[in-house]
Amino acid sequence: MELKVFKFGGASVRDAEGFKNVGQIMSTFKQGKIVLVVSAMGKTTNALEAVVKSYYAQDGRAYSLLDDVKQAHIALITDLFADGQAVIDDINDVFVEIEWILEEVPHEDFDYTYDQIVSMGELLSSKILGHYLTTLKLQSQWLDVRDVIATDNTFRDARIIWDSTQKNAISKINPLLENHQIIVTQGFIGSTSENFTTTLGREGSDYTAAILSYCLDAESMHIWKDVPGVLTGDPRIFEEVIMMPRLSYKEAIEMTYYGAKVIHPKTIKPIQNKQIPLYVRPFLDPSSEGTIISDEKELSYPPVVVIEMDQTLLHISTNDFSFVAEHHLSMIFSLLAKYRLKVNMMRNTAISFTVCVNNIPDRIKKFESELGAEFKMITDNDLELITIRHYNEDILKDMKKNKLILFEERLSDTVQMVVRNLPKMKRKETNH
Ligand code: ASP
Ligand code: MG
Repeated sequence: MELKVFKFGGASVRDAEGFKNVGQIMSTFKQGKIVLVVSAMGKTTNALEAVVKSYYAQDGRAYSLLDDVKQAHIALITDLFADGQAVIDDINDVFVEIEWILEEVPHEDFDYTYDQIVSMGELLSSKILGHYLTTLKLQSQWLDVRDVIATDNTFRDARIIWDSTQKNAISKINPLLENHQIIVTQGFIGSTSENFTTTLGREGSDYTAAILSYCLDAESMHIWKDVPGVLTGDPRIFEEVIMMPRLSYKEAIEMTYYGAKVIHPKTIKPIQNKQIPLYVRPFLDPSSEGTIISDEKELSYPPVVVIEMDQTLLHISTNDFSFVAEHHLSMIFSLLAKYRLKVNMMRNTAISFTVCVNNIPDRIKKFESELGAEFKMITDNDLELITIRHYNEDILKDMKKNKLILFEERLSDTVQMVVRNLPKMKRKETNH
């Protein structure tokens, strides 16, 4: 049985046009079976995050924020279906579940509650898409992915329990595939052994598609996006980006490790382990294959630039300016791990140790206070981390324009630098 796994992100289902486009794409794949993983509509995940925050702040706005989400979904259904009442009834159940939560006093575990509420975005979009594909007479079946994706209880960043997930995928999905061509299911969410809902971390739907590809031995995986493929830079930032038709798994892992947002970083490993090719392709031009990521060797690449915004440098020194010794470093690293501060770059000098991390103020604050009295920490905010793979001198010069370089490191194929943007200084017009 030839099986493909498709993933459509929030941008591809942000409005009725988007759903119609997905429907059109699905109609062109008449051969073989497809497991379709969908994200929440447009910016729904952000909107649900706002509901959770407001609920915890008890500022009285949670219900009305939730109602905005509901109205947006109902408006979409009204646009998409001639008679949408059955679909509205279906999604109403999801909203009722959230309303029940909002009626209670907030649970002490924020992350737990976050997952119970924010996960609903994917349930909504997948239900709507399932109904829509049925109206197109496609043989599709909706599946609650929480019956398949088994995780631990690290809410908001749940780890996959692979053996259970593998067993579930085969026992739950394969029988459905016998009678249906398309299975519509959710990205991003999973379930603990106690049946609590978990999420896999923001933008985690790609990872879900990779997990299912792995467990079901898919022939290929396809991420449908609003870009032509994997580009040499973020098109919202750079003018002259080009699409790379082929990438190796290794290159894709490196790019996402350095922060390229095109694919979730955890996506590649499972499909690489089974040598499943990954297509990153444009949903606005389904005839294009986009970028194919596979086990290529010895490809040569143009310079690729990855920018991570909102970086912070933490300069840590001992209070008496004695050496930062190995036992200090080991303690610093265990705290970085404890507060999940990913080290993007680092350097140690005689009396200080500097790390570049994503600016996550509450975790940095906790980290600092647990460092204790023996250390002093100075932070440098509002920085950017620029990583250039396959660099040449021209692109380096280009990237350094109007920047103050605080910290730079060159490896054979990668340059990284932490920079501050300088205000562009323009001379005043004068008369002489
Ligand atoms: N809807 C989730 C998010 O926005 C997951 C995803 O889009 O992949 O983070
Ligand atoms: Mg998304």
